Amino acid sequence: MLDDQLDRRTLLAATTALGAAALMPQPAVAQASASASGTALPARGEFVIRGAHVLSMDDRVGDLAGGDVHVRDGAIVAVAASVTAPGAETIDGKGMICMPGFVETHWHHWTTFLRPVMRADDPKKTYFPVTFALGLHYTPQDSYRSVRLSLAQALAAGVTTTHNWAHNVRSPAHADAEVQAMRDGGLRGRFAYGCPLGMPNDKPMDLADLARVKRDLAGDPMLTLGICSRNVDGSTGGTRGAIDAAMAKREWDAVRALGLPITLHTSGSGAIQLLNGAGLLGSDLQLVHPLNTGPADWEALAKHGTHYSTSPLGEAARSGEMQFIEMMQAGVPVSISVDNVTAEHCDCFACMHMLQAVNRHRTGGKFKLTTKKLVEMATIGGAQDLGLADRIGSLTPGKRADLILVRTGSPHLGAFGDPYDALVQLATPADVDTVVVDGRVLRRKGEFVALDYGKLLADAAQSVEALKAKAKWT
Ligand SMILES: [Zn+2]
Repeated sequence: MLDDQLDRRTLLAATTALGAAALMPQPAVAQASASASGTALPARGEFVIRGAHVLSMDDRVGDLAGGDVHVRDGAIVAVAASVTAPGAETIDGKGMICMPGFVETHWHHWTTFLRPVMRADDPKKTYFPVTFALGLHYTPQDSYRSVRLSLAQALAAGVTTTHNWAHNVRSPAHADAEVQAMRDGGLRGRFAYGCPLGMPNDKPMDLADLARVKRDLAGDPMLTLGICSRNVDGSTGGTRGAIDAAMAKREWDAVRALGLPITLHTSGSGAIQLLNGAGLLGSDLQLVHPLNTGPADWEALAKHGTHYSTSPLGEAARSGEMQFIEMMQAGVPVSISVDNVTAEHCDCFACMHMLQAVNRHRTGGKFKLTTKKLVEMATIGGAQDLGLADRIGSLTPGKRADLILVRTGSPHLGAFGDPYDALVQLATPADVDTVVVDGRVLRRKGEFVALDYGKLLADAAQSVEALKAKAKWT
């Protein structure tokens, strides 16, 4: 999320008033509740998508104006003009673009179901005041329900991999609940373990539980693990907490000893230069929101292989320049993220469109940013950011089958021309017809295949009402 708009005195007062009680371990989420919130995932089968306009995002495979994609047991078997696969189900891809699913690289799923509480025109009811006030009272079940609702939206918008920026893990049970929601949701992703809201800044994160979750996720084919750090630039501490370089080194050294990656919100030079001076930059570090930096920052990031995630829809509403252009010119990899869906949509099409518009606005188009490059950023670029490019991000035989079909026949898209232009300039999440994750068809003809969305909504509403009561929210 962008600016920490919550007045810090309010935050401190709330933290003090709640004290340790808000940080006490919570009872584990009931397994029955978890499993009752959705139907089991559909089985992986064997199918061929036929006659689609295939954008493989792999130069060795290329694009096909009318091609077939063969999927079996969760893997891409073949991408060709015509595939023979006796016994395989046929999925009609005519009039559709077949492409890798979107790989977004930073999203606070635990906040999603709070959106009915928020008001854009009331400063006391915007993202940070609401998430902090209610977030202090989350049970593991609340975490589970918000993540489930959020992942349903992700799927509907064609996102097949997400980076779950979980900066309110209030106990080991909350961590388990978020992981369980990701497993039940069926998407691929990284769980970024974070500290609970309100935790004292001089207290280290729960590294023992992080190591436990690492053991639990070992060998998981769908989920990986990392941490989301508290801010290291005190001036932008706010609700996510703010630690100094010594605490960052202490925590990050331990996290790196576990072989886990790190993500951090930071805009401006302060934190980058602090981290550079402390020797803490690295290729295992993702920064979020590339704004208000300078040439020395870009050079340091490029030198160490540190990458940035840009959330165009939110950043466009923030003061300062969106600097993905400078980052990319300096050799810093940039991927695309959703951030949150309380004030913006999960809309990777709009994100690409916004980046293109900003590039034109700021450089007059001097920086060459093709529509194909934008689609790369939203697919294989995201996979590279999350360390998954060997498994997903392109329609490459041998990779896992994470793909989407995008309809091209709607009034705002037809008549169909260049597919990359159509995706960046014109398409919307409503055009996503079919979503496949690891060979499971989770959306078909714009509908969930095996998900009781109404129950997710009802569960979310029940949780939010209980949280409002606990927080005495009016
Ligand atoms: Zn964020």
